[in-house]
Amino acid sequence: MNESFVQLLCPECSKNWTTNPTKLGPLDSAFDCPDCDERRSTREFLRTHRDLEMVKQFDGS
Ligand SMILES: [Zn+2]
Repeated sequence: MNESFVQLLCPECSKNWTTNPTKLGPLDSAFDCPDCDERRSTREFLRTHRDLEMVKQFDGS
């Protein structure tokens, strides 16, 4: 399970990268793009439904 990761995509600058879902907060918390500092909710950076579901698992909800 330590190998799990999610794909992120910035809607503003189109940067895409992957991260461990345990490093992300709740889906509706604010998240800053590491490249352009665009701030949106975490869910808006998640690329696919699968990624969203995976973050939910680690959300504790
Ligand atoms: Zn960005």
